[in-house]
Amino acid sequence: MSTIVIGAGLAGLFAARSLAHGGEDVVVLEATPHLGGRTRGDRESLAYGQVADLGASWLDIGQDTLLSFCLEHDVRLRPRVALFPKGPDQRYSGASILLGNLVTDGQRVDAGERSAMAWEVLDALDAAPPSGAETLTAWARRVGLSVKSRHAYVMQAGFNPVTRGDLVSSWHVHPGDIGRLCWLLADGTDSIARTASAGLDIRFSTPVRVVTRAGRGYRVLTDTGDFTADRVVVTASVQATRRIGFDPVLPSWKIEALLGTPMAQGGKVVAQYRDGGRILDAAGPSTMTDSPVSMFWLKSGPEDTVIALGTVADTGDGRLDDAAATLTDLDRQIEAMTGVTPSRVGGVVQNWTTEEFVGGVVNLGTGGFARRAALGAAVGGVHFAGEATGEWASAMEGAARSGQRVADEILQKIRARRPAPEVLV
Ligand SMILES: Cc1cc2nc3c(=O)[nH]c(=O)nc-3n(C[C@H](O)[C@H](O)[C@H](O)COP(=O)(O)OP(=O)(O)OC[C@H]3O[C@@H](n4cnc5c(N)ncnc54)[C@H](O)[C@@H]3O)c2cc1C
Repeated sequence: MSTIVIGAGLAGLFAARSLAHGGEDVVVLEATPHLGGRTRGDRESLAYGQVADLGASWLDIGQDTLLSFCLEHDVRLRPRVALFPKGPDQRYSGASILLGNLVTDGQRVDAGERSAMAWEVLDALDAAPPSGAETLTAWARRVGLSVKSRHAYVMQAGFNPVTRGDLVSSWHVHPGDIGRLCWLLADGTDSIARTASAGLDIRFSTPVRVVTRAGRGYRVLTDTGDFTADRVVVTASVQATRRIGFDPVLPSWKIEALLGTPMAQGGKVVAQYRDGGRILDAAGPSTMTDSPVSMFWLKSGPEDTVIALGTVADTGDGRLDDAAATLTDLDRQIEAMTGVTPSRVGGVVQNWTTEEFVGGVVNLGTGGFARRAALGAAVGGVHFAGEATGEWASAMEGAARSGQRVADEILQKIRARRPAPEVLV
């Protein structure tokens, strides 16, 4: 039996691996020349052989599928990091991040002021917790946070999931699981994809345009030719899936789930600086800002360099298309935080909004469990995986688990159809 997997991101690679281990004949069709989808690494733009993570960076506590995968396959992790301290009462919450480094209006905010804001937010979270879907901005207004605290609390939407506070449900930041305990990949985030792709038949630069029923199987039309298989697994983002033609047309509940799932819009800026030790001492491990670079974090590099990685929400002002201006924003925030005039030796800006085969950062989780179930449900022999369908929403773990889930679904179907072995008496 044969399967075509659309997409060589983590969902596609984990689906293809599991299917291949189960004895399936699998071909992965990837639209771009790159492996790893939103975990792609850039090996050209930094000095001393360093990799710039253009998409995901952090493996968080709870990303057990991927942490186990790394341990089993010798994918190296950097030492564990807490991106910001526990909250003022030693608990993690939506207030914790305010105790970390903060730059507003180009000025470093001192520890006393951060603590006062964190207490104000924490008291409000305890007294009137946000409902899961309530936006950060709506909650901050409902509970009457002071202007400064509201501004700082809402800023964290720019780090996770890289958008504005009026577009983000509160569950994204409270009770604050992201960033408590996390790891960077020592050889770049794409080392997971590189390891997971071993032995797979992947056709790069092969964008799928149409998936059509053909007899008992499917024909997949791409820019480079047609492929046929017994079934198809779609792992493209919600935005990219909306651009694929399906014949017969997908049922309306599936199309509505795809249309009703917006993606955060934005990208990443990565730069490498000299004077790494001084910058790390003054700004490690992360800094939240109210500039276009919403949050940056640091990792040490060779030759006393440091690599700063930042998230940039796309507010529609074209900033992300202006790499020089975005890199200068990052330089300024580093200078404000550290007092060190940065000497940049390399840098790159990645806009995920304008990537034809992604179309944004991550899904915004609107619609909750019911929407994810609709996004992940199979339609005949067309199966669906990807971060938007995963129980670990908007993260690498969700993508990997969804790939394994879809492979189990398919292998179970195949086993159920096999005739029972004859018993000889
Ligand atoms: C800036 C940024 C920061 C992030 N930070 C983190 C983080 O720190 N930690 C974390 O866990 N997660 C993070 N994420 C989220 C994480 O990267 C994603 O959830 C995960 O990588 C998505 O994997 P996927 O396989 O579902 O989708 P994708 O990675 O999008 O893979 C889908 C693949 O399908 C291909 N494709 C699309 N359409 C077609 C087509 N028609 N034909 C053929 N191929 C097609 C695409 O090119 C792509 O390679 C971040 C994401 C971004 C963008």
